[in-house]
Amino acid sequence: MPCEMCGAQGNTFKANIEGAELVVCQGCAKYGKIISRVRAPVKEKKSVRRQESVTKPIEKLRNEIIQVIADDFSDKIKKGREKLGLKQKELALKLAEKESLIHNVESGKFIPSINLARKFERFLKVKIVEQHEETRDKKYNASKVALTIGDMLTIKK
Ligand SMILES: [Zn+2]
Repeated sequence: MPCEMCGAQGNTFKANIEGAELVVCQGCAKYGKIISRVRAPVKEKKSVRRQESVTKPIEKLRNEIIQVIADDFSDKIKKGREKLGLKQKELALKLAEKESLIHNVESGKFIPSINLARKFERFLKVKIVEQHEETRDKKYNASKVALTIGDMLTIKK
């Protein structure tokens, strides 16, 4: 409440000044006699509503890139190897992998990891890792997806 005499804001007092009861500031109060102190109205506390702790649902529709080994990876690897005129054993040596692994991959018994597939891709100049953009909530065949955290990081670069 501002001082009725000078308009100053702040602590005010109810004072009897020359016979009149006024609400005045401390400075003006000395011209009369303080009757009581006027308590500044307590500022109404803004009712701060607590942030609702509802966790936002993960953006379901955000697309993400997933890497998938092509269905015909075994054919592509085999053809790529034959194109280079290498035997399974020789390719195994070049890639520092076991011959049995090459054999199993070419016969489709073993689906290579993305990292291994990349190795084949680089060496054989074939494309066996396919990128798909998937929506998060879309169900995909998880067994087909061989994503490691390392792979995810490379995608996001
Ligand atoms: Zn005053």
